[in-house]
Amino acid sequence: MANRTETQAERGHRTIHAGGEWLAASSGATRDILDPADAQPFAVVAEGDEKDTDRAVAAARRAFDAGEWPHAPVAERAALLRRVADLLVRDREELGLLESRDAGKTVEEGRVDIDCVADAFRYFADLVAGEALGRVVDAGSPDIHSVVVHEPVGVCAMITPWNYPLLQASWKIAPALAAGNTFVIKPSEITPLTTIALIDLLVEAGLPTGVANIVTGPGHTVGARLAEHPDVDLVSFTGGLVSGTKVAQAAAVTVKKVALELGGKNPNVVFADACETEEGFDTAVDQALNAAFIHSGQVCSAGGRLIIEESVRERFVAELARRAARIRLGRGTEEGVECGPLVSEQQRARTEDYVASALAEGAVVRCGGKRPEPSPERPESGYFYEPTVLDQCHREMRVVREEVFGPVLTVETFRTEDEAVALANDTEYGLAGAVWTADAGRARRVAGRLRHGTVWINDFHPYLPQAEWGGFGKSGVGRELGPAGLAEYRESKHVYQNLAPKPVRWFAG
Ligand code: NAD
Repeated sequence: MANRTETQAERGHRTIHAGGEWLAASSGATRDILDPADAQPFAVVAEGDEKDTDRAVAAARRAFDAGEWPHAPVAERAALLRRVADLLVRDREELGLLESRDAGKTVEEGRVDIDCVADAFRYFADLVAGEALGRVVDAGSPDIHSVVVHEPVGVCAMITPWNYPLLQASWKIAPALAAGNTFVIKPSEITPLTTIALIDLLVEAGLPTGVANIVTGPGHTVGARLAEHPDVDLVSFTGGLVSGTKVAQAAAVTVKKVALELGGKNPNVVFADACETEEGFDTAVDQALNAAFIHSGQVCSAGGRLIIEESVRERFVAELARRAARIRLGRGTEEGVECGPLVSEQQRARTEDYVASALAEGAVVRCGGKRPEPSPERPESGYFYEPTVLDQCHREMRVVREEVFGPVLTVETFRTEDEAVALANDTEYGLAGAVWTADAGRARRVAGRLRHGTVWINDFHPYLPQAEWGGFGKSGVGRELGPAGLAEYRESKHVYQNLAPKPVRWFAG
């Protein structure tokens, strides 16, 4: 670990990795990486552009077309992924801290992220290692041997967001490598540090030169070039709807495979029967807080829409607001802090704008709704915002329809099960949602009717590497994790072998 930290310090702003070399931006441009807790720079990276992107794509192309990785035995690829998981465990503290500092999350969240990243590498290693190499198809004759095999897609471009920088990268890199692809990744320009560190770990684990490439830089240059590049075969994007749409449009010109993991506006539906016992009430309130405010709400699956049965609303919201007001805000790296700052000034301004629009449309603030008082653990220069509960909301409000991506929970109410389902499905997104009820039949009924890619019953937020993650509607195209998450990075090929060829005599001559 010490060696790697030294290497990074020595490397300075040479953070572009192409064809096995660490490079500065060809323009010489750099970018300061800010700590969102105090807005102070704490690292410098290369600000790459289209030229740097072309160089990285060329390296990935060479490694795919002429290198050994796409043809490496499955056991070898799986072993490499497992070595990466071991290295992540070795560097857990350092990487967890780096993620916390870069993205503003608490150190504990940073550590959990690294555990989840290691799990993703292990899962895809096990998945490919345990697979049959092909599927034999019955062609109706003993003279025909017909088999469907999987091959890597080729050069994969990956574009990732700032909220779970390394986790989102791992959901792409692990299956892409398991399938035998080469790649170029562009992390978010504001949180690139752990993805740079992961490239070091891949090299340390023995990945051949040119297989893993990274270009640090902005979306409108590096990201846009990756999406349109003729030598890229697949683009996998995680981020917002606006950028995702641009990526899909650019990729269409060269008919690339496209995977999009976009936003969400996720309902948390609470029936009164879930709150009948004290324990049930406490759990539902606690999990509603977690759903909305973990990582200050900057989570694609954040449960930012509480949809609660009218009869229990007042008691539930009062308790929720009481507990939300007590969440300890501060620098994520401080022990005991429960919520860090937002990732950037822009993200806080966006949150403030949504709260202002909600108030103008009739919402009532039950807690938060402003920046906190500065304190030694919450410098005034940091991008802090109080966990906010907005009561009296309805589906016509912008704050209810659009993704806030900040610590804002809106409250809507229902009287019947049909009304609850209609509200929960009344979104252009469809990433995730939850239903809380003590009635098992209702739980299954409602879960079956929700148009969201993940549905939790009496829980919120857990995901499993073995289970597909992705969205209905405008939450995206394709799936990450699970067998479908590996299939994204593969082409299927049907090999039909005639063991006793004869003329077909279709043509007389
Ligand atoms: P963003 O769309 O602004 O940026 C995402 C990435 O796209 C960044 O690397 C950015 O540089 C790049 N980018 C921007 N414009 C581009 C362009 N024209 N062409 C190519 N690349 C471009 O999103 P963000 O603000 O970084 O992240 C927040 C969003 O990500 C939220 O909407 C959130 O819901 C979503 N998200 C979704 C999931 C999921 O699994 N569905 C997970 C995490 C985040």
